[in-house]
Amino acid sequence: MTQNTTQSLKELAKRRGFFIPSNEIYGGTAGFYTFGPHGTALKRNLEDVWRDRFTYQEGNMEIEAPTIMPEDVFEASGHLETFDDMIIECPECGESIRADHLVEDNTDIEEAESFSTDRIMEIIEENSLQCPNCGEELADVEVDDFNLMFGTNIGPGDSSPGYLRPETAQGIFVEFPQWKEYARNQLPFGVTQIGKAYRNEISPRKSIVRVREFTQAELEFFIDPEKDEPEMEDVEDVELRLYPINEQDKDGGEVLEMTVAEAVENGVVASDWIAYYLGISKKWYERIGIDMDRFRFRQHLEDERSHYASDCWDAESEVGGDWIEITGFAYRGCYDLKKHQEHSGEDFTVFKPYDEPKTVEKATVSPDMSVLGPEYGDRASDIADELGRIAEEEPERFEEQESISLEIDGETVNVPVEKTGFTRKEVEETGEHIMPETVEPSFGVDRILYTVLAHNLEEDEVDGEERTVLRLPAEVAPVEVAVFPLMDKDGMGERARKVARSLRESGFSVKYDDSGAIGRRYRRQDEIGTPICATVDHQTLEDGTVTLRDRDSTEQVRVNVEELEKSLKGFMDGNDLKEF
Ligand code: AMP
Repeated sequence: MTQNTTQSLKELAKRRGFFIPSNEIYGGTAGFYTFGPHGTALKRNLEDVWRDRFTYQEGNMEIEAPTIMPEDVFEASGHLETFDDMIIECPECGESIRADHLVEDNTDIEEAESFSTDRIMEIIEENSLQCPNCGEELADVEVDDFNLMFGTNIGPGDSSPGYLRPETAQGIFVEFPQWKEYARNQLPFGVTQIGKAYRNEISPRKSIVRVREFTQAELEFFIDPEKDEPEMEDVEDVELRLYPINEQDKDGGEVLEMTVAEAVENGVVASDWIAYYLGISKKWYERIGIDMDRFRFRQHLEDERSHYASDCWDAESEVGGDWIEITGFAYRGCYDLKKHQEHSGEDFTVFKPYDEPKTVEKATVSPDMSVLGPEYGDRASDIADELGRIAEEEPERFEEQESISLEIDGETVNVPVEKTGFTRKEVEETGEHIMPETVEPSFGVDRILYTVLAHNLEEDEVDGEERTVLRLPAEVAPVEVAVFPLMDKDGMGERARKVARSLRESGFSVKYDDSGAIGRRYRRQDEIGTPICATVDHQTLEDGTVTLRDRDSTEQVRVNVEELEKSLKGFMDGNDLKEF
């Protein structure tokens, strides 16, 4: 297999309608790409295959939330405070540069994102790093945090700030109280979403790999950590290539090869839920045509982890000598649900019934409102609520002290214990409210599409002639079958159009092409990865057979038009063309 260059991929993307830089008539907008007809079809197929695996086959529910959300959401989620990258502005030419990338591009350091801004400044100084635009020395220039969210206003005026979501996940978390109802309060359950996410990247680069608007396919899987376990038997024998923290820290550290079961047993992957998703995802990447020799799972270094994650692994693919993060697998714990519960006051817990009811001692209060009301006015009910909370969380205070001291609206209030109606009594409880923990695989569709193109793009030789061929799996190919008349005469054109129409009616994605020499038409289809071409020729008019030509082997067989649909279905299901 020949190594593809990113340049030939870029050219193919434009020539064959996969993707093009947006708004070029107005000078272009860095970080935005428009998918052309074949790119859109490929992307939609990848999303459908993802949906099949991570929504349908896992029994999860798919939702679609708005892409603009109010500030409250991101205040609670922590994105407003911490969703930053490091920026350095060149004092000479004004270029904004992502400081950790500047370090990675000009030193041996690989994961500079995990360093503090102070350390990055030191490295810039130690290595006399310069502005990539004008060559100005950047020692002593301040490195700042830059928040990546695009801000906007909801409605006229600026009283309701909103943000374009930087990840689809928050649309799942904020509606959790509703999803748990749909799941009939039973853990575990998963919610998926495929949709746009926006990040105001400081320096978008590498084509569609780092863009400002992209598509994520995310699964938030909610579990009871004390009870729920993944179906490990489905994945235990799946072979993984793992690059854990300790190997990354070592000189000459290596990617370790082991099965999912071994990774869990040896503690290389701490969470069996993360290990489970690494296993099913590995099989999914193979299904869509990612080359497993140019693929690894890399554990995040401690300082690199997002603010919400306790353990995180990335799926990475190699393209043009660089490793690209295509999916993040994060153990988010109860971080998000807890934050949204605290900020909204809504209930994000799930009721977990006990196997048998339990008799427990409960401390309660029943404050005398006829005393509290006249004494504290409209603060009386807040005082009663706070007494209730203290009885639940620190009941001993009612027994150790004569009065309970509370903070209400910044003021200290002392309520005599005898007026709180404090008692302890035995009650029967049937269960408890628990906060679920979340496991998140977060796939970047654009980067996956880019990898699939890069890993399947090859140059080979057919009949002494060089050709470019995209060996895409049939399931994701933008066109499943191309139909040609050998020439548009003697009724061959009409016959071929009829074949194309009938295949479309049967649900195939079909390209009809009658322009140019037949060899040129084959080459065009090879370049967009069409697995089968069907040609109507003179013999078709005599015996009703068409030529089917296989993209990869370029072998040809003749099949009766009546049998065409069945043969093609068989091929799409993985049968060999020769078996027709
Ligand atoms: P993260 O939330 O940063 O782990 O991102 C989840 C996934 O989204 C990553 O694995 C990427 O595949 C994708 N992604 C993140 N940022 C970008 C970007 N600027 N352009 C394209 N894809 C991205």
